[in-house]
Amino acid sequence: MVVMLRALTSTIFPRVGAVSWRRYSAAAIPAPNTRPEVHFNKLFINNRWQDAESGKSFPTINPSTGEIICHVAEASEVDVDKAVKAARDAFRLGSPWRRMDASDRGLLLSRLADAIEKDAAYLAELETLDNGKPYAVSYTVDVPNVVKCLRYYAGWADKWEGKTIPIDGNYFCYTRHEPVGVCGQIIPWNFPLLMQAWKLGPALATGNTVVMKVAEQTPLTALYVAHLIQQVGFPEGVVNVLPGMGPTAGAAIARHMDVDKVAFTGSTEVGHLIQQASGGSNLKKVTLELGGKSPNIILSDANLEDAVEQSHFALFFNQGQCCCAGSRTFVHADIYQDFVQRSAERARARVVGNPFDLTTEQGPQVDEEQFQKILGYIKVGKSEGARLMCGGGVASDKGYFIQPTVFGDVQDNMTIAREEIFGPVMQILKFHTLEEVVERANDSKYGLAAAVFTKDLDKANYVSHALRAGTVWINCYDVFGAQAPFGGYKASGNGRELGEYGLDNYTEVKTVTMKVPQKNS
Ligand code: ADP
Repeated sequence: MVVMLRALTSTIFPRVGAVSWRRYSAAAIPAPNTRPEVHFNKLFINNRWQDAESGKSFPTINPSTGEIICHVAEASEVDVDKAVKAARDAFRLGSPWRRMDASDRGLLLSRLADAIEKDAAYLAELETLDNGKPYAVSYTVDVPNVVKCLRYYAGWADKWEGKTIPIDGNYFCYTRHEPVGVCGQIIPWNFPLLMQAWKLGPALATGNTVVMKVAEQTPLTALYVAHLIQQVGFPEGVVNVLPGMGPTAGAAIARHMDVDKVAFTGSTEVGHLIQQASGGSNLKKVTLELGGKSPNIILSDANLEDAVEQSHFALFFNQGQCCCAGSRTFVHADIYQDFVQRSAERARARVVGNPFDLTTEQGPQVDEEQFQKILGYIKVGKSEGARLMCGGGVASDKGYFIQPTVFGDVQDNMTIAREEIFGPVMQILKFHTLEEVVERANDSKYGLAAAVFTKDLDKANYVSHALRAGTVWINCYDVFGAQAPFGGYKASGNGRELGEYGLDNYTEVKTVTMKVPQKNS
């Protein structure tokens, strides 16, 4: 699954490191309202709030307590049909959206970024309430990166240029970059606001219309953003946001005959279903950002203290709920014991608790299902013979809190070294040579991200070139920018999000060729 970013201040989390992340200070974080009001809980279609046709709704849960926050309208296939119709109408030739100057599309995106920034504290509170991530992170990482992403793509709206092409003969040949059309976007729960921005930014900058299904665990912030979308002046039907379930609303988008493209972020299992649904319907274009089991390789010359801290962050950030989590930590034999001890010490010191407390590093897992799944993996890890160094249990008598857990003596064939756990459970493996570790690191169905820690430039280059992964970090982890593409090799997905590459997925290239008369007649 998905991602994470860093910008955490050393004042909040003293162990989180490099200077470039220290953008926000604790002093700049306003005291949160721990009970933010929910203003929007219906379907957003054609710039109007609507109940589901079925009248159905579902509860969204506060993962810190297990209590219901509120009920939210539950979209089904008929609501998807309505939303697709609205998006199609907004995309028709001559519509306000299609006639709008590209620079004005950019301006709308930019205004949306401003509106989100203005309500940053509220959005961060709502994100923490619904998802459980620490407020300090929602406020200093998620929301600011949403704003940056939208501003970045606002800038692209009038700069996404085609080419003139010198074909043979007397012709003027050029390409136009045109929107794909109605885009279905299905997003996950681990970074609800950020995944919404990653999807909307490139789609809207390039002039598409959108039907977005948000994750059933975390629908609230996306709905508030829908309200802002309307407020800043996007025309009716350009963006439609549907809370609902995957197998019903999500599947209806994936197989819809009038959806031109689907962009999905989530599990590899569902990624297979999305691709199949496209193949079984209208061959809509598909981009996928899926799971991972990312190797994080620590060479013996690495700065040990820094490597321990960064590897801790690589795995535990966002409660371990990152598609690119560094979940196979390969450590050179010479420093292995020391590294394992220090990692366990660091994990024991991790502050787990109320996510609204500004000193909290780790909140609850998103829901009961994930909570149970992770506990199941811990059990399997122990039974398969990995050495439990710390944690391994539940961290609170209510809510979905799990103790930061570290396993040493992990072998490549163990379940916890092969499957995505998506929780605060670290696997540390031992290696001896560079060639060996590269081969073992690549021995995975996934290929989302990877990292190497070393002071040796030649080794860093060797490893980073040899790894089959969409992103490789050297002496750092989870460093993201709206400007840099992100996506997977192998079963981690296809297509890239963010950066200029992210625009490709939302563009059809049209070749136009015009005969040029040789003389004036
Ligand atoms: P996770 O297991 O981490 O919850 P999922 O892949 O199940 O990840 O969910 C990611 C997104 O995909 C969510 O919005 C979810 O509702 C949606 N989803 C789940 N199943 C399907 C499906 N069969 N078709 C389309 N979307 C789905």
